[in-house]
Amino acid sequence: MLNIVLFGPPGAGKGTQSERLIEKYNLIHLSTGDIFRANIKGATELGNLAKSFMDKGALVPDEVTIKMLESEVNKHPEAKGFIFDGFPRTEAQADALDTFLAGRDTSITKMLALEVEESELRDRLAKRAETSGRPDDANPEVIQKRIDVYNAETAPVADYYRRQDKFHAVNGLGSIDAITQRLYNAID
Ligand code: ADP
Repeated sequence: MLNIVLFGPPGAGKGTQSERLIEKYNLIHLSTGDIFRANIKGATELGNLAKSFMDKGALVPDEVTIKMLESEVNKHPEAKGFIFDGFPRTEAQADALDTFLAGRDTSITKMLALEVEESELRDRLAKRAETSGRPDDANPEVIQKRIDVYNAETAPVADYYRRQDKFHAVNGLGSIDAITQRLYNAID
C-alpha cells in the first residue's frame, strides 16, 4: 500500500493537492476536516460536537477524531492506499494511526509537508472565505487561532515522522501544477 500523510498548516493546499494525488496513484482521500463538515451538514451527533470546536479554531478531541478516522479507513478494505489530509494533527493521533495501520499489516509510507509562510496563509484563507462558506475562514481571530494551534500542537507531528525517516518537505509556493509535480517527484 501507498499511505501518504499530507501535512501542512491551514491554507497550505492539502485539499487541492490531494485531488491530484488520488488520481495519479489511485488512492482514497481521507480529509478529517471534510468528514467533519459533512457531518455538520447532516446534523449528526458527531457533526454537532465537531462544530463546537471547529467554529473556535480548536481541535476536535483526539478520541473522537481517531475513532472516526479508523471507521473511515475500515470502509475501504480494497484500497490501494490512502492520503491522510488533516490527520494526524497531534502526536497522540500519529501514535494511534501507527498502531491501527500495524494491526492491518501496513504503515505510513511517507509524510509530505507543504511549507508555506504565515503571511501567505493568512492571505489564502481570507481569499478562500469568499467562496468556501466556511465560518472558520471568515474570521481573522479564528484564522489566527488555527495557525497558533498548528504551531503548538500540529507542527511537532513533523518530528514524529522525522524520527521514522519518513518526513519530506515540499515547497508549497508557486503554481498548483508546479507543486503537484514536486509532490509526484517526492513520491516516485
Ligand atoms: P484547515 O487545514 O484549512 O484548517 P481542515 O478542513 O483540515 O482545514 O480542518 C478544519 C477544522 O476541523 C480544524 O480547525 C479542526 O477544528 C477540525 N479538524 C480537522 N482535522 C482534525 C484532526 N485531525 N484533529 C482534530 N481536529 C481536526
